[in-house]
Amino acid sequence: MRKKIVAGNWKMNKSYTDGISLFNEIIDGLSLAEHQCEKVILCTPYIHLQKVSELCKNHQTLSIAAQNCHSEIAGAYTGEISVSMIVSVGATYVLIGHSERRMYNAESNEILSKKVDAALGNQLKVIFCCGESLEIRNSGEYINYVNNQLESSLFHLTKEAFSNIVIAYEPIWAIGTGLTATKEQAQEMHQHIRTKLASGYGLEVANSTSILYGGSCNAQNAKELFSQVDVDGGLIGGAALKAADFLSIIQSF
Ligand code: PEP
Repeated sequence: MRKKIVAGNWKMNKSYTDGISLFNEIIDGLSLAEHQCEKVILCTPYIHLQKVSELCKNHQTLSIAAQNCHSEIAGAYTGEISVSMIVSVGATYVLIGHSERRMYNAESNEILSKKVDAALGNQLKVIFCCGESLEIRNSGEYINYVNNQLESSLFHLTKEAFSNIVIAYEPIWAIGTGLTATKEQAQEMHQHIRTKLASGYGLEVANSTSILYGGSCNAQNAKELFSQVDVDGGLIGGAALKAADFLSIIQSF
């Protein structure tokens, strides 16, 4: 059965020492907190990956993710990071397709499809982000748009590969804006994504793939969003930068 997951995306925030302090606060809080969350994933900047991977070795619910990877295995790609480098420092997940990378780094569905292959080919699990802009939402085409993102970047995979995929639905208009999708809007899209998975891969894959909501999810609205049948947790940006807020989101389950 699919897992209840809360993932925190630190983006380009936190110095090395501030990041380690935040991580330690989260670990301490997690050991005291009562919650039903089955997996916590921290998507840290590259500089933290090795240290936090070491620190979370004895914490079964915690996993570490990079925020990006290159589609090639190695080579002359200045400033980039490969999947094998990420694996070599102990991280087990990678975020692929975040809307900020799609927007600022012109990452197309096709490039993302190659990144997914590179990650899975190196035993790195994938949190795959999809979601529409406000313009597309208002045009009424948002379901087709997300369909296309999924088909183009994930639907070449085998059924077995989906056990290493988490999907994060992140409407762009809700990311970092303080605007959150209503629980009905989130459920509508999550249900659609699950139906889409069922039509491509069958009910077993659909029912065992975790689908997270992302977009201004915080300590106040997490409970309501997570109570929707097809919302299996959240991908959290801003609210993941303060341990107390992040921990209270985790406790929303
Ligand atoms: C994100 O960047 O994935 C995100 C959901 O950000 P925020 O929670 O700040 O909207």
